[in-house]
Amino acid sequence: MFLDQFSILIAVGFSGASLGLTLFMLWVVGRAETHLLSWSLGLAFIVGGVVFFSYVVGKYDANLLFASFVLLIIGFGLLYSGTAKFCADRANAVTTSVVVVASLLITSVCFGLGYSGLGTIAGNVAMGILLALSGHQYWAARKESPFLMTANAVLFFITSLSFIACGYALIHDGQFILNARPDNWAEEINSIVVIMGLTGIGTLSLTLNQARIANRHKSDARTDVLTGLLNRRALLELDTAIPPNTSVIAIDVDHFKAVNDRFGHDAGDHVLKVVAETILGSIRSHDFAARIGGEEFCVVLPNSSRKSSTDIAERLRRRIEGMTIPTAAGSVRTTISAGIAFSAAQDETIQSLLNKADQALYEAKSSGRNRIQVSGFSLVA
Ligand code: GH3
Ligand code: MG
Ligand code: MG
Repeated sequence: MFLDQFSILIAVGFSGASLGLTLFMLWVVGRAETHLLSWSLGLAFIVGGVVFFSYVVGKYDANLLFASFVLLIIGFGLLYSGTAKFCADRANAVTTSVVVVASLLITSVCFGLGYSGLGTIAGNVAMGILLALSGHQYWAARKESPFLMTANAVLFFITSLSFIACGYALIHDGQFILNARPDNWAEEINSIVVIMGLTGIGTLSLTLNQARIANRHKSDARTDVLTGLLNRRALLELDTAIPPNTSVIAIDVDHFKAVNDRFGHDAGDHVLKVVAETILGSIRSHDFAARIGGEEFCVVLPNSSRKSSTDIAERLRRRIEGMTIPTAAGSVRTTISAGIAFSAAQDETIQSLLNKADQALYEAKSSGRNRIQVSGFSLVA
């Protein structure tokens, strides 16, 4: 062999242990991220398996080889479960348990009957399957981060193949009972691939994990906590590219202070949530809704005619007017006023449309509330 397998195993063991420790520490600071715990536990089992395997490299012992496979199969099972949790938000406990238990059973029976070669083939194929399943999770989720997730999937598939090749080499050589540790071309390739796979997959997984946290923070910064709609900041970010035929509706709940005064702040919050849901239920999938102030909302309707935007606003006004909103402090009835502005000039921005819509809203308020006012037009309702 052109490489000293014992040294390679030491390298795999130490880098696996430090990666596992890093993931464990990340889990300690963010306990909700259970995939980090699965990954770190998986690596702990894998490092245990590597330690046993390195003993076998020093002096062949079928029992130690078997123990090494048991730990490795459980370890790769935990890695798969963590990956499923990370990629699809499901730990896939059933698939993991079925594959791990079946693999352990088959490997145990083979070793138990004295067919250590067959057991080694089963163990390698089992690890290959678990790695391929992990790769498949990244492949299926690649939309989130196409380049990094595809790269991780490919690394998993290559590592999976290198384990399956180890099984294939033993079958090819007819080595169904071993008297020495498996030593062939596939084992040599596997040693190198495992080092590359471990560092590559470890780094990519950590990067993807951090990227997801950064994206979550970015999304939180653009979301209104109470209603889940966009907030003012997110709305004004749309400013850069305002499509033609866009209209903006500024909405304000009428006499909302009175709702708070009579039913309490919690009931007021609930009413705001219901108004937000009703707004979302009244617009099209490509429209945007934002909460831009206490009881002030804004809807942006790209590609919308005057008539369709006015219809949307009027439908919303009627819906809210007709609602009885149950709260812990009693049933609340409320109304909204709205102002609508349409993009006319080329250089219109969301802010300039919002200013016009606000002016129209002010007119709707001063002419009696519970009505829609189109910017520059007479009252509609
Ligand atoms: P108008 O018809 O003129 O709009 O009257 P209004 O009472 O709705 O308007 P005003 O601006 O006087 O009062 C707005 C109220 O909205 C005052 C404030 O307590 C309440 N408010 C603002 N943000 C929140 C919130 O997050 N939750 C609750 N419950 N109330 C809020
Ligand atoms: Mg109001
Ligand atoms: Mg207001």
